[in-house]
Parts: sequence; structure tokens; C-alpha cells
Amino acid sequence: MKTYDLVVIGSGPGGYVAAIRAGQLGFKTALIEKYNTLGGTCLNVGCIPSKALLDSSHHYEDTLKHLDAHGIELHGEVTLNLEKMIARKAAVVEQTCAGVKFLMDKNKVEVFTGVGSFLSSTQLSIAAPDGTTETIETKYTIIATGSKPASLPFIQIDKERIITSTEALKLKEVPKHLIVIGGGVIGLELGQVYRRLGAQVSVVEYTDSIIPTMDKGLGRELTKVLKKQGFNFYTGHQVTAVQRQGDTVMVKATTPKGGELVLEGDYCLVAVGRKPYTVGLNLEAAGVQKDDRGRVVVNDHLQTNIPNIYAIGDVVRGAMLAHKAEEEGVLVVEQIAGQKPHINYDLIPGVVYTWPEVASVGKTEEQLKAEGIAYKLGQFPFRALGRARASMDTEGFVKILADTQTDEVLGVHIIGARAADMIAEAVTAMEFKASAEDIARICHAHPTFTEAIKEAALAATENRAIHA
Ligand code: FAD
Ligand code: NAD
Repeated sequence: MKTYDLVVIGSGPGGYVAAIRAGQLGFKTALIEKYNTLGGTCLNVGCIPSKALLDSSHHYEDTLKHLDAHGIELHGEVTLNLEKMIARKAAVVEQTCAGVKFLMDKNKVEVFTGVGSFLSSTQLSIAAPDGTTETIETKYTIIATGSKPASLPFIQIDKERIITSTEALKLKEVPKHLIVIGGGVIGLELGQVYRRLGAQVSVVEYTDSIIPTMDKGLGRELTKVLKKQGFNFYTGHQVTAVQRQGDTVMVKATTPKGGELVLEGDYCLVAVGRKPYTVGLNLEAAGVQKDDRGRVVVNDHLQTNIPNIYAIGDVVRGAMLAHKAEEEGVLVVEQIAGQKPHINYDLIPGVVYTWPEVASVGKTEEQLKAEGIAYKLGQFPFRALGRARASMDTEGFVKILADTQTDEVLGVHIIGARAADMIAEAVTAMEFKASAEDIARICHAHPTFTEAIKEAALAATENRAIHA
């Protein structure tokens, strides 16, 4: 029987990064993945393909609507080749997944293709697609089996007309009317892809705002901008039924005033969150506990109730984000190696890759109010920024929340062009416990979007933004 120091089950960003770190630290490491391609949700049906389609659809929309303002005139017809757009996305995915395979070889990680399951706390069985099984022995195991789309009890996902994000990434036609259930990250990102390609998009959201877990100011601004782009929003609506008849999907919801909303479309994207995935793992054989939401229970060290078994990423508590999973993978391996790593869960950035982008780190205004923390607010609009005017990306703002007493930055919330990349400055500053004045006194290159961060910090410091 083959034996290993460490076996990782699941090759998503949590699992494959853990395997690389283990290889770097000299552990004899194996990675088990049930699918033929490595990379998990993120690379195959998540982060990477969704961003590929967001980029392609952005080019399409710019070509149709925004080139003229730049003095670029098109004298032929602009047409959409959806099949080619989806094929480009598939090629990006293929290339990225192949990169993970290369990294496994480079770091001497042995890859098994098959479903991994526990036989005991130290023995794992791998059921290969060809029907054969193999048993391996390990000192440590990391469960990194990720998550799957969640649904509502009364919805029958048929993967044709009533779909999840996985199917939405490979549609064969642009929907005429896409009804999205859930105004969170997936609903808005994929909703925007199809809006740009010409679909009517209606978003039905249960809470009173889209992106409800982020700072409310961001949700308000994003609502305004996306409405201008043609989105229909039904917030505060509780979906009660989703029915398909032929090529038509009917969605019924209770309105905030108790009435009934009936929407008719040709596709319905169900994007109400994701649920942890442990099917087939046979956790019982090892005695690993789950909580009532199906998550593998871990302590602060990401250790399960069985000391040599750890769990990371979407399958445990916390934000379901690729970068959170990656940090956890590294943390677990370094702990096993006797190091003392640390994750600051308060400073994991959240990003929505719509355009304008939305990015956030630290406390929201709502959280600070609820916790009774006195704060100062500095906000700077993109329209006052030379760089933003140059590219006509003038929507949005940077908002900095700082402690009234100490001036320490407690939260940074950005909506606007390139927010996804800009948030890194805020994370770095907050990791070093910067004050708003610290950021305000740092020289920012001109003209850049990042000047909005400096200006918001100036506004938070003494209400002395220069350009507003
Ligand atoms: P996963 O990536 O889910 O990987 C788990 C792997 O385990 C899978 O490959 C699965 O096949 C395998 N597996 C499961 N059970 C077994 C078993 N028994 N044996 C062998 N293998 C098994 N996050 C971001 O941070 N940024 C984004 O832009 C972003 N965009 C997203 C867009 C979409 C449409 C979706 C759906 C998600 C997106 N996410 C994004 C979330 C991100 O994909 C997840 O947070 C991340 O993939 C979680 O990583 P993980 O390693 O925990 O699990
Ligand atoms: P989400 O939690 O972001 O959004 C789900 C939305 O559905 C919420 O706004 C919620 O209030 C709403 N909702 C829940 N039940 C509902 C109901 N019955 N009727 C109407 N609305 C309802 O989840 P998601 O968008 O499905 O994404 C799943 C996970 O994937 C998230 O954890 C997210 O972090 C991750 N993801 C991240 C990115 C990114 O980082 N850019 C992109 C896509 C997905």
C-alpha cells in the first residue's frame, strides 16, 4: 500500500495550494480529485470562467455602445458569436487547469483521479472512473471538497431552463429574459454578462438590498448603476414558485406589501448561495463531525475533531472565497510542519466583478453601528478623478471608515473601475494597522484610480480632500 505524509482530498484553490505548500516543505504528498481536470469550482466553473465571460461581454458592450464617444466609428455590423465566446472561456479554463497539473508535477505531488473516501482516520480509498479502487495510507488528511450550488426546496433545477451558475457559464443562446433568483455575487456577475449580450435581466432578491452582506452604500450605488444598464430589481421579494412550461419559466414571488409578482422568462438562474459538499467522503468511517449546515466542524487551527484530519475552504465555516481557501490550505500545512502561521479573518477582501467593480474589506458602517464603535467617514467620488474622466469610468466612490479616537482604518468600501485591484492597498494598510492619515500621506501616482483612496483618506482625516 502506498503511504504518504499528507493527502489532500479535492483540488480546488484550497486543496491544490495546500498540496503545493506541502511539496515545498518536503512532505510526501498526494492529491485526490474526482474530476479529470484539477482546479475545483474556482478554475472549472467559478472564478475563472465567470471572469472570462465578464471580460468578453464587456468588450462586446464597449464595441456596441462606448467606442463612438472615443471617436472610433464602426462601419460594419457588430455581431455576437456566443459559441466562440464560450469556446474562448473554455480554452482559458483548460489552460489554467493544465497549469495546476504542471505545478503538481513540479512540486512532486502525486495526483489520483477518483472519488476519495475515508476507510479510517489514516486510510483512504480512491474509486477511479474506470471502476478500480485503490487504498492508500496517510499520516495527515486535508478535506478540501468545496461546495455545490444551493437551491430552494420547491425548485427543480433541470439544468436546461432552470439553471445554476454551472450551466449559465455555457448557454447555447442568449436568453430573451433571464430571471435571476438571488441578488448576490453570482446573480449580478452572470446577470451582467447576459444583460450586456442583450438579455432582459430581472433579479429577485429576498432581502431589501442587493449584495446585502456588503456595506449598504455599495448596494445602493450598484443598484443605481445596474438599473441604468437595464437591470430590473425586485428586492424584498420572497420567491414562492418556479415552474417550467416548455421553453417558458414562470417565477412567482410575494412582494414586500404582500401582493404577488409573476415573472415570465425563458431561463431562470438560481443563485441563492452554495452549500458545503461532503457526499461520498464517508466521514463516518473516520468519525469526522459535521454541523447542522453540513459543514465540516473545525477549530481555530482548522483541525476537525479527529486530530490528524483537517478541513479548509468552502467545506468549513466562513466566506466561500477562493483566496480564503488558499490561505487556509497554507495555514494547515505550515502548522503540520511546526510553524506558527496566522490568518486575519477580519481582513479577507470581498469583490464583485461587475462593472463598476465592488470591493470591500473590514467593517461595514452597519457593523460599526451595531458594535457601538465611533467612526469617521471619508468618501471620494470617482467623477472628481482625472483618471476616471479620461476613461469615462466616473461612477462610484471610495469610502473609508476610521476610528474616531485613534484614526485607525476599520473598513474600506469601493465601487468603481478597478476596485478589485485597488482593494489590495486597503488590505495592506489595514494589516499594518494604518491610520487614515497614514494613507493620506502616502504618495499615489497620478493619474491613477488609487488617488481616490488617498482622497478618501484625506476626507476621513480632517475632511480635507484636495479635489472635492
Ligand atoms: P472547490 O473549488 O469547490 O474544490 C473542491 C474540489 O473537491 C472539486 O474539484 C471537487 O470535484 C473535489 N471533490 C469533492 N469531493 C471529492 C471527493 N470525495 N474525492 C475527490 N475529489 C472531491 N471566489 C472568489 O474568491 N472569487 C471569485 O471571483 C469567485 N467567483 C466565483 C464564480 C462562480 C460562478 C462560483 C460558483 C464561485 C466563485 N467563487 C469565487 C467561489 C470559489 O469558486 C470557491 O470559494 C472556491 O472554489 C472554494 O475552493 P475549495 O478549494 O474550498 O473548493
Ligand atoms: P450569495 O450569498 O452571494 O448571494 C445569494 C443571494 O441570494 C443573497 O443576496 C441572498 O439574500 C439571496 N437569497 C437567498 N435566498 C433567497 C430566496 N429564497 N429568494 C431570493 N433571494 C434569496 O451567493 P451566490 O451569489 O450564490 O454565490 C455563492 C458563493 O460563491 C458566495 O459565497 C460567493 O462568495 C461565492 N462567489 C464569489 C464570487 C466573487 O468573489 N466575486 C463570485 C461568485 C461567487
